[in-house]
Amino acid sequence: MQEFDIETLAIRAGYEQTGEQENSEAIFPTSSFRYNSAAQAAARFSGEEKGNVYSRFTNPTVRAFENRLAAMEGGEACVGTASGMSAILSTFMALCKTGDHIVSSRSVFGTTKVLFTKYLEKFGLEVTFVSQTDLSEWQQAIRPTTKAFFLETPSNPLTEIADLEAISNLAKQHDCLVVVDNCFCTPVLQRPLEQGADIVIHSATKFLDGQGRGIGGAVVGSHELVGEEVRGFMRTAGPSMSPFNAWIFLKGLETLPIRMAAHFKNALALAEWLSDHPAVEQVFHPGLASHPQYDLACKQQSGGGGLVSFRVKGEKEQAWLVIDNTQILSITANLGDVKTSITHPATTTHCRVEAADRLKAGITDNLVRISVGLESVEDIKRDLARGLDQLI
Ligand SMILES: *Cc1c(COP(=O)(O)O)cnc(C)c1O
Repeated sequence: MQEFDIETLAIRAGYEQTGEQENSEAIFPTSSFRYNSAAQAAARFSGEEKGNVYSRFTNPTVRAFENRLAAMEGGEACVGTASGMSAILSTFMALCKTGDHIVSSRSVFGTTKVLFTKYLEKFGLEVTFVSQTDLSEWQQAIRPTTKAFFLETPSNPLTEIADLEAISNLAKQHDCLVVVDNCFCTPVLQRPLEQGADIVIHSATKFLDGQGRGIGGAVVGSHELVGEEVRGFMRTAGPSMSPFNAWIFLKGLETLPIRMAAHFKNALALAEWLSDHPAVEQVFHPGLASHPQYDLACKQQSGGGGLVSFRVKGEKEQAWLVIDNTQILSITANLGDVKTSITHPATTTHCRVEAADRLKAGITDNLVRISVGLESVEDIKRDLARGLDQLI
């Protein structure tokens, strides 16, 4: 279905109707499948005959989600996983071995960093963290054993943009894979495979679901790397997506294009309003012309996304005052929901980072992060003004 636009793929790609002529996709809550004969069972197990075997690695609802997301990202294959973290784990377990080296942006999701440093390093994988935006640091970090680059863009919470094309070109010269966590933009706003990346990772928990209902993840890429290698790990180790969650995400994908456009519209309007507020020191959103990488964002993304961060004038106390004076916003670290969420990164998502490193990364105590939802943006502004106006 690659000749169709993404809005059509989001609704039509990936599903094979059963004999019941249903119009909405069916859920298959079954652990195993029956065979017509012992010979068919043998053929399925050996891989000689294509078809369902066991839901740890073949389930029709999960497959529909995988095929739809693969079509939207422009990838040949996709593997659904139990969470975004297990998508990252499965990728590196499948593709790397002891002694391999990974270069990762320093600005990746905090739990991803812990996965690299506390667990994968324990098994002899070496990881070097570099600047999200300075290509020379990536270049200098490369060793003969470097197997992969890892990054997410825009970064959380400061929305720094990594140059996907430049980083992918550098990786190709050194025979490294490029793995991109595309959680914040989704394929609607950015398709890393088209810009030279080899693998795209998703936390389906966020925008793909869009209504905060379940945990899931996905890996998208070539038949060889994802269809064979990552799926092989999944089949063996079993961090599988449940059919029910796959159905939620499948239905989430149908509205993803209109939701991402609406998240971006609200986020940009809010970012512009915050920029003009006298109690606000600085605002971060890739759609603002004041963003230091505005041109790169325009080239690489078809929209700025739904996350906005800002520094209030003051310290932690002032940031908390703004958060605590909201009445409709959800005080939660989750993101990508139709419900707007507000969080204080220094004491929540980044609390496990050493204070000095946190400051170096720009996560100051006066920073507030908002995942802008789909309520009226005027109501979101009024909710934030309750606290911000007290600071003037
Ligand atoms: C949430 C998140 C993850 C982890 O996903 P889970 O589904 O919570 O395991 C990975 N990367 C990014 C950028 C995230 O925001």
